[in-house]
Amino acid sequence: MHNTWEAFKKRGFGFPRFKKYGQFRSFLFPQFKDDPLTGYQIKLPKIGSVLIELHRPIPEGFVIKQVRVLSRARGTKWYVVITVQSNVEVPNPLPKGRGLAIDIGLENFLTTSDNFTVKRSLFFRDLQSRLKELQRKASRKKRVRNSASQAECKTHSRQKGSKNWEKAQIKVAKLHHKIANSRKNFHFQVAHQLCDQGDMIFVEDIDFRVSAKGFLGKSMLDGGFGQFRTILKWVCWKRDKFFAQVDHKYSSQICPNCRTHTGKKPLSQRQHICPECNYQTTRDHAAAEVLLQRGLNVIQEVRMDVAERKLPSNGDLSRSVCDWLDKCRSRNTQERS
Ligand SMILES: [Zn+2]
Repeated sequence: MHNTWEAFKKRGFGFPRFKKYGQFRSFLFPQFKDDPLTGYQIKLPKIGSVLIELHRPIPEGFVIKQVRVLSRARGTKWYVVITVQSNVEVPNPLPKGRGLAIDIGLENFLTTSDNFTVKRSLFFRDLQSRLKELQRKASRKKRVRNSASQAECKTHSRQKGSKNWEKAQIKVAKLHHKIANSRKNFHFQVAHQLCDQGDMIFVEDIDFRVSAKGFLGKSMLDGGFGQFRTILKWVCWKRDKFFAQVDHKYSSQICPNCRTHTGKKPLSQRQHICPECNYQTTRDHAAAEVLLQRGLNVIQEVRMDVAERKLPSNGDLSRSVCDWLDKCRSRNTQERS
């Protein structure tokens, strides 16, 4: 990490991207004539048979479309990602049943409109500090062996690291890998938990990449909220739960009970106390309740539109619902701005 950073400073343009050179390398086999899988082996063109650990079997009726080989953690871990294809079309889940909205926060990982909270995991904080320590150690290791080899290295396009340097780099990369994996695991668990609690799930449409650049900076990135939303969307689809993103603007400035604009709250103010109706709850719960109302409103609008236009009540409905949701959403945004 340290060396990458130095290299970026020397190059003198742009902020370094988060994926580091060497951490994320892959190659793709775009097509297969025959099934490359036989038991615990995969047959790759030009490489031959490779022993793999198949995490789940390829489902019946699916054809292997492409295979991507990924190298992670400085080449100490290898993955094979198999893309499969079938002719069965899966309809998008329709809005129905119980609604649930999610406010993504800093204090808690998230709060739902039912005032169910998911705490931030301390486990990650421990891993993060361990990572910092390793990175510090790694940056102290000499990158090149000695001055003679340094001169030699300059003639080569890529420098070779010293043994200790390379070892330290691998340690750092492995921990990065572990953190990413356990975070993903946590996101999946939470997504399934939420799907147990509701049939329609609404999430704010905030662009987490933008907030990460601002004052919320690092803690937002640590949470990996963008990834969580993507995983949640996928889990919803898989479990036939309706998923939609709703306008996030002013969600923490409106009273969910009487819809009064209560004005901007400083981030330190964790309570919502309405001066009009005296409704009291936590700031995040109030915001989630507002998001739920917005989500349900949009769906109501869509239902009316769909009923008026007498759209077919078959699989096409789901697509028109989604189109209308998109339209309503952009209309709402325009009105407010
Ligand atoms: Zn109120």
